[in-house]
Amino acid sequence: MSLGARGWTLLIYGPESALARAVRVSPYSPRYKFRTTFGVCPERANGASLTTKPPHRSNPTAAEAGSRPAAGADADAGDVAERLERMRGELRRHSYLYYVESRPEIEDREYDRIFEELQALEAAYPALITVDSPTQRVGAEPQSAFPNAEHTVPMLSLDSTQDPAEVRRFDERVRKALEDEPRYILEPKLDGASIELVYEDGLFVRAVTRGNGRVGELVTENLRTIPSLPLRLREAERPPPELLAVRGEVLMYLSGFEALNERMVEQGSEPYVNPRNSASGSLRQLDSRLTAERPLDVLAYDILMVHGAQLTSDSEAVCALRGWGFRTPERVTLVSTVEEILEYRETYAADRDDLDYEIDGVVIKLDHLDARADLGATSHHPRWALAYKFEPRKEITRIEKIAVSVGRTGKLTPVALLRPVEVGGVTVARASLHNREEVARKDIREGDLVRVQRAGDVIPQVVERVPEDGRKRGAAFQMPAQCPACDTPVQVDGPFTYCPNRFGCMAQLKKGLTHFGSRAGVDIEGLGEETATLLVDRGLVKELADLFMLTAADLEPLDGFAEKSAANLAQAIAEKKTVGLARFLYGLGIPEVGTTVAATLAAEFLSFDNLQEATVERLAAVDRIGPIVSEGIRAFLDDEQNRERIAAVLGHMDALLPPEQAGGTGLAGMNFVFTGGLERFSRSDAKRLIEDNGGRVVGSVSSETAYVVVGEDPGSKLRRGRDLGVEILSEDGFVRVLENAGVL
Ligand SMILES: [Zn+2]
Repeated sequence: MSLGARGWTLLIYGPESALARAVRVSPYSPRYKFRTTFGVCPERANGASLTTKPPHRSNPTAAEAGSRPAAGADADAGDVAERLERMRGELRRHSYLYYVESRPEIEDREYDRIFEELQALEAAYPALITVDSPTQRVGAEPQSAFPNAEHTVPMLSLDSTQDPAEVRRFDERVRKALEDEPRYILEPKLDGASIELVYEDGLFVRAVTRGNGRVGELVTENLRTIPSLPLRLREAERPPPELLAVRGEVLMYLSGFEALNERMVEQGSEPYVNPRNSASGSLRQLDSRLTAERPLDVLAYDILMVHGAQLTSDSEAVCALRGWGFRTPERVTLVSTVEEILEYRETYAADRDDLDYEIDGVVIKLDHLDARADLGATSHHPRWALAYKFEPRKEITRIEKIAVSVGRTGKLTPVALLRPVEVGGVTVARASLHNREEVARKDIREGDLVRVQRAGDVIPQVVERVPEDGRKRGAAFQMPAQCPACDTPVQVDGPFTYCPNRFGCMAQLKKGLTHFGSRAGVDIEGLGEETATLLVDRGLVKELADLFMLTAADLEPLDGFAEKSAANLAQAIAEKKTVGLARFLYGLGIPEVGTTVAATLAAEFLSFDNLQEATVERLAAVDRIGPIVSEGIRAFLDDEQNRERIAAVLGHMDALLPPEQAGGTGLAGMNFVFTGGLERFSRSDAKRLIEDNGGRVVGSVSSETAYVVVGEDPGSKLRRGRDLGVEILSEDGFVRVLENAGVL
């Protein structure tokens, strides 16, 4: 398998991947042009390129070791111990050259021969087996659970940004604090599973997952199975310290990940979502023999604690780690200016798709350890480091089915049901395809491979189809000719398709009912989508007005209802016979009438009758209500069937209350940040509501932020909000804040 005995050894494992990639993006590629690239440890090549990673060499397992006749079983025990140690040393050296440096000096067969010889000798002298013997990488009994263990020092997370301006500010802060020219060490931000590795007197003794940063799980036996992990530190350039705690990252290579997933699917197991999950899942196998089968690698990049070695800088630490036998990240670089940092990130971003492992940005750290101590840390992040992340990642997955959903207004929306995939930290299983034309334009069909991204950190979307040569595709997508809910022939309006059966289509009624009872609408406690669906399916509600005729006796026999909950819902409905006009208008689901327009209309017209009588011109004269919205409202209110249904509802209402006229200042001085999609408000509606009442909506979380409002599929702002101790609001919580401030 190996192509050469010395120098760079490129190994092929998989039909295309490693070799081709290694050639394209070797550290010597002309694309890579940093002045100080290899200045970190000048005495040696800068570690092995990850892309030239060798295949997973499976050591013969301890179980296979065996019962083979012991050579020299009667030899003098002292001689044997010496001989065992010599063989182990030899194997360690070759293993290091192979896995860490990617430059083996012997053939695999020769390695295996020595390994088997060692196994046989150890089997004959079991008392002489040492924990750091290469034969001991697999062999522990399966565990029933992983004990918890505290980290030597807390493994803090890094503050992170995607904004170059934020990087400049970081640099300014550092310069100001140091009153000197800083030196930064740059490295890729590996997207694997973080791990603490502890060595005592050079011997590997403990591995702890990151966990919550303070306490993690003890997975020592599983780490042992990773061939690139030194079980005993090398003594190349400096002697191993008494105590060494290292932060590392366990990675699974993309090529290995794909092969693993294929195997899992073949075996009928659920495939992993991404290599990071796969790496951390592999680490948490209770049977270390299973971990041993996984193509894992571990890279060391930070010294958490060291006793017995003098280090003054991170770059020195990187060299020490290499000397002790660890694999370290590639392209570790020293720079001193922001421009160099930006360039480093750009180059990595450009190469990102060519790498055989996942990175989600680059890490900027101050190199000098004294300077780090001067800057210190907040309770969450060190002040001397920053993760400069890439744009949210697009992921590739397959469309399992294209379903069609019917909305509240009868609009038919094609929805891609995806094989679940994690995109930027969130699992995505469905994405709207918007309309017929959009599907046709992107030429998306069931079974297609597609690229999915989370646009603006919020809503997942299908970006494009990924062509697959030679794969037979399904039929082109067609909108159904009939509504999937009520079989009424659909109508086409431009790119959109509608079910015109507005009052007889149960899908529309279910959504309309849910909308009417929602918190921003009439706000009926206990009337969610599930209950609305039940009420419609059981024929208890055939139109909106029926809601007000429900009794506790009607509700009690329904699934999930008991005497008390039935009485509660009936009571909640009855209570809403008196309700704010704005809520009522919003709840009706008039086209173009969101919470802001509803509030504006209520404030302007004060009663439903006044609104009903308003002409298009009168409506259009209202501040912020344009001609299109006016016409939409007018058309809705003029529709004969709508009039009837609304009249029926109004027949049950006791009072529709006009809003207080006073201008709102209830949110004065409050900054809101939104992350994730809200159900009841569009972003622009929410923004207007807040701004109309003296508050502000800002893009990023800071200590000035009053609330982070979290919708569906929240992004990194949620974490940042938590880290900064900002109050986090669900959508319901947000509505409550608005209510308390008199906005709703
Ligand atoms: Zn329908």
